[in-house]
Amino acid sequence: MKKTVYGVLMAMIVGMVLGSCGKKMVCETIEIVPKPQQVTLQEGRCKVNPLRLEDKIRYKADQSLGEEAYVLEVAPKGITITSSTPAGAFYALQSLKQMVPAEAVADRNVRCVELPCCTIEDAPAFAYRGAHLDVCRHFFSVNEVKEYLDILAFNKINRFHFHLTEDQGWRIEIKAYPKLTEVGAWRKGTMVGKNWNQTDSVRYGGFYTQDEIRDIVQYASERFITVVPEIEIPGHALAALASYPELGCRGEGYEVSPFWGVFPEVFCPGKEETFTFWETVLTEVMDLFPSEYIHIGGDECPKQEWEKCPLCQKRMKEEGCANEFELQSYVTRRVEAFLNAHGRQIIGWDEILEGGVTPTATIMSWRGTDGGIAAAQKGNKVIMTPNSYCYLDYYQSRDTEHEPLAIGGYLPTEKVYSFNPYAGLTEEQQQYILGVQGNVWTEYIQTFDQVEYMLLPRLCAIAETAWTLNGRDYDDFVKRMQHMRTYFDANGWNYAKHIFE
Ligand SMILES: [Zn+2]
Repeated sequence: MKKTVYGVLMAMIVGMVLGSCGKKMVCETIEIVPKPQQVTLQEGRCKVNPLRLEDKIRYKADQSLGEEAYVLEVAPKGITITSSTPAGAFYALQSLKQMVPAEAVADRNVRCVELPCCTIEDAPAFAYRGAHLDVCRHFFSVNEVKEYLDILAFNKINRFHFHLTEDQGWRIEIKAYPKLTEVGAWRKGTMVGKNWNQTDSVRYGGFYTQDEIRDIVQYASERFITVVPEIEIPGHALAALASYPELGCRGEGYEVSPFWGVFPEVFCPGKEETFTFWETVLTEVMDLFPSEYIHIGGDECPKQEWEKCPLCQKRMKEEGCANEFELQSYVTRRVEAFLNAHGRQIIGWDEILEGGVTPTATIMSWRGTDGGIAAAQKGNKVIMTPNSYCYLDYYQSRDTEHEPLAIGGYLPTEKVYSFNPYAGLTEEQQQYILGVQGNVWTEYIQTFDQVEYMLLPRLCAIAETAWTLNGRDYDDFVKRMQHMRTYFDANGWNYAKHIFE
């Protein structure tokens, strides 16, 4: 008898007995998040030692499979993983690990788990499956970033968007500009709650040395995650300007901001040395990050300083810019040309569309999906990360009094799960959607424990949209999450419990 299931059934551990192979667990059904494209249950069971899973696995190559696709066959005699790349094999292994009860791994006395025989044929819907972390508003250690990467790998997320520069702190060592971390990585205090008149007056900061960055990039690559660094150009610049005031229009009087928000003090593109700065910084960034994509920010760049700055106005005249939005477009195009000359591509927030954009820029749509839709209509590549579905710093409950302080909004897991990245696009335009990403901005997230709370389980919903896309079913997802939470517990990952209540 062969039974095909498209939805994955709720796991039932039907027995835990002491058998000849020590403590034994029997697993009846298969529950995986993100949901595989196809699961076929078969007769029979496969006995594995949960602590020595690899002993039972045979790896096979099949170049006809897609880059991240895999076939996982669990048979009485053993487990076969077939893929065309190591990434595909890695995802098969993630699925397999989710079939082994977390309790069996945690209980070191369990020597035998009986898995149901099955064939899983799986491949992701989107090539770009991202998660972002802001380490500027609050800083997280290398070990915490690695924990974050572990969570991404568990969810088959393959891009880590590392938000490294901000008004409130510059977080990456740049050898040519040491003051960026001597000065720019530190602020005098941090605003208290949502009080824009008060700071705690406690010096706050931190940064990653280049060796630490290399370590993070390596750790990510072992989990088939590409780290996409973000260097904000030309806004969100206060930490850089506090370090090198000559790069601003005013040339003096900047400090690393203890307050959240959007500030009028931005880089001066009227000065040639500003471009030298960006190119030098990006050269070091390219040395550290092999990612094809470099994120250059481009969001929330007020134009009032440029309006008053003679050098900016002169630049606009020379370059034929009709307004300051076109001046930002000039900046973006010039930085893009520099990166392209070094074999890299840019990603920018959807604001970079405003003054006109090259056809080769990739747009990250955050102010809803309108920017992404407009970009896809033009033939630009798009990553969908609309705040209305993908901003994981928003509240997960309406009962905000019983939630940790958050930036605002209301974004429960169910709404995250309901996102359709293709909505509003023709079939032809859909091909420009590279994928989906969840963003974790950390103004109100002070600890890594809280990062996890905001991330889980909502990231799992994003992962299922990005990996599975079609045939999603929220109730079925919640059932499978009951099983997933046992791994969160086993790994010591904090998570929000609303969907389980
Ligand atoms: Zn200027």
